[in-house]
Amino acid sequence: MERLDVFMARANAAYYATHDPFADFTTAPEICQAFGEVLGLWAAVCWRVLGEPAPVLLVEAGPGRGTLMADALRAIAAAAPGFAAALRLHLLETSPRLRAEQAQRLPGATWHDSLHTLPRGPLLLLANEFLDALPIRQFVRRGAGWRERYVAAGAFVERCALPPDLDAGEGEVVEVCESARAFAAAVAERLARDGGAALFLDYGPAARAPGDSLQALRQRGFADPLAAPGEADLTAHVDFAALAAAAEAEGAAVCGPLAQGLFLARLGLAQRVERLARTAPLAQGQALLASARRLLEPAAMGSLFKVLGLCHPSLFPLPGFER
Ligand code: SAH
Repeated sequence: MERLDVFMARANAAYYATHDPFADFTTAPEICQAFGEVLGLWAAVCWRVLGEPAPVLLVEAGPGRGTLMADALRAIAAAAPGFAAALRLHLLETSPRLRAEQAQRLPGATWHDSLHTLPRGPLLLLANEFLDALPIRQFVRRGAGWRERYVAAGAFVERCALPPDLDAGEGEVVEVCESARAFAAAVAERLARDGGAALFLDYGPAARAPGDSLQALRQRGFADPLAAPGEADLTAHVDFAALAAAAEAEGAAVCGPLAQGLFLARLGLAQRVERLARTAPLAQGQALLASARRLLEPAAMGSLFKVLGLCHPSLFPLPGFER
């Protein structure tokens, strides 16, 4: 029997080490090249506001195929050569298989298992669909008390537990992601000490509420999260309010969360794609415009996906979060 977070950590480590996750699901950078491009330009603007430090760490957590960063670096090289020369690329990735894929597209990067081995200094960090893969605990309200979910033989078993930090009605589930909170706190501590900014793009509600959001994706469809550990991608909604609180406690300023569609629109994603589409062959141009709509429109990824910014208080508000 394993506590759910232990089960999820083990299942995802096995999954990312042995599978091509992009056969099972797709992500914004894989949908549209302008996603990585505008995030790269966002980092370049932050670097200017920081006073153009050299060197500066450009960090990505959970880079997947390396697509976001390859698109970002291409845009940075064209528009901000000073930043391109100053940046040192560091990637947080635990999967050996994905590290190998990243190395092909991002030569010269340095890889880390965790934040703790990153060198000191001002940093700009990007993380897209990273936090949703981190292991969660689930608590269930039963009568006057609480139980916690464990996994045994492919099914949930409930054990007595202390109350989580959110109340709920009878039978409702409350989720807690300790590793996401610890990650946000560690990033925030570094930002407050050394300066810089971080951007987390992920899916989840803006305000915290009870609910079971654990899901498994396999071959582009939903699967039973407990049935075949290591064979499916396990994710849960990101609790942005808890991340914001953890970061503020470490002295960082918090921007958002903002709907992803609004944030990307403010960064000029639509204009960039229109410009690309104008010079591309017709079919390719239309595909580009369709991919941008998928990221921007509330009914697609524009609203469920959110963007949370953390920064040194001197950088508040970060570009894209100004009112
Ligand atoms: N950001 C990419 C990939 C998202 S999939 C994209 O948008 O396409 C999640 C990524 O996080 C994968 O690269 C996975 O290997 C990595 N990952 C998952 N858990 C991790 C952990 N605990 N530490 C570091 N990387 C992790």
